[in-house]
Amino acid sequence: QPSVPCSSNESNRNELRATSRVLVTGGAGFIGMSLMARLARASHSTIRPEVLLGLDNFNNYYSPAYKRARADHLKEEHNLQVLEGDVCNASLLEDVFSKFKFTHVVHLAAQAGVRYSLDHPLSYVRNNLECFVTLVEQIRKIDEKNRPSFVYASSSSVYGLNRKTPFSEAHPVTKPANLYGATKFMNEQIASAFHHIYNLNSVGLRFFTVYGPWGRPDMAAFLFTRAIEKGEPVVLYNKGEMQRDFTYIDDIVAGIIASMQFCTHSSTVFNLGNEHPVELMKFIAIIEKEMGYNAKFKFKESPGEIKTTFADIAKAKDLLGYSPRTSIETGLKNFIDWYKNEPRRHVFALGDFNPKLKR
Ligand code: NAD
Repeated sequence: QPSVPCSSNESNRNELRATSRVLVTGGAGFIGMSLMARLARASHSTIRPEVLLGLDNFNNYYSPAYKRARADHLKEEHNLQVLEGDVCNASLLEDVFSKFKFTHVVHLAAQAGVRYSLDHPLSYVRNNLECFVTLVEQIRKIDEKNRPSFVYASSSSVYGLNRKTPFSEAHPVTKPANLYGATKFMNEQIASAFHHIYNLNSVGLRFFTVYGPWGRPDMAAFLFTRAIEKGEPVVLYNKGEMQRDFTYIDDIVAGIIASMQFCTHSSTVFNLGNEHPVELMKFIAIIEKEMGYNAKFKFKESPGEIKTTFADIAKAKDLLGYSPRTSIETGLKNFIDWYKNEPRRHVFALGDFNPKLKR
């Protein structure tokens, strides 16, 4: 389906204004918190919305203390609230939607992680499918002229075993490599069906390996930095022969903000990547340099991993004005500066990745 940017003579209801009312699900998560903090800081390109509410269930996929620290940071620095609640809770959604009459909904809450999906498949079905449908059901019930703009997180994982690089939105996605990617692809399919049935417009964002300050402790930048700091081996899967299109958090947040204001009359998707895949060994070498220590390695096998991710970002450049600017060297330096100055980093890294997940 074609996505149509607002023409200059069409009033764009999605534009962010001082009267906008924004809901961010997954507000205590890495990307959600970074988005809320950015929206709260009025600048030349954004205006602080009247309502900016996070929603998060603070689950223990990784340290809930870390998520609390992010929520506290939002409260202390920006006077923002992350409401504790579950996106699958339809009556809670009904309450907050009727109270705040959101103009923009950014849905980032999900069960993330590829390896975790091997052992915890049902958490993906619940959090990524059941909760997604609960939320879109809530939105489609609002009459069309008052419906909020709806942006949700998809993932580069939808490309799965599609080997043609760079990955373009124009390539049909047919082979997710794991359940995580499959549920994200289903989100896009559900969004498309809701557009067909209810005329519900949406923008799905296929993020490519996001990193930066306040990043997730189960992802490469945090895991490798911590292992190097502690003199423990860096665990590398499939001989470490991988490339990832690592994308810096500030670039991703800028892309989300552009998507929130994008005037679409369809259900569309965009790649938000960096267009510069980096070899894992190069990524580690930069961390070693910044930390001043050498890494030790331990090699493991893991099914479900893909070798290369590489975003074609022409569509986002063209229609959203998206232009990632942060080099891997600068981005990792910013992350490591944050990491070194964060006294709670070891607490954040606790919360191992196989606890019984709180629903
Ligand atoms: P995150 O795990 O830090 O944030 C997700 C947040 O959602 C968490 O705080 C979690 O507690 C919350 N949550 C999960 N299920 C919930 C539910 N049912 N109700 C309420 N809250 C719930 O992850 P992130 O890295 O910030 O990712 C945000 C989104 O982007 C996710 O949808 C993820 O799948 C997607 N994504 C992330 C990346 C990445 O590199 N970080 C890449 C591709 C896609």
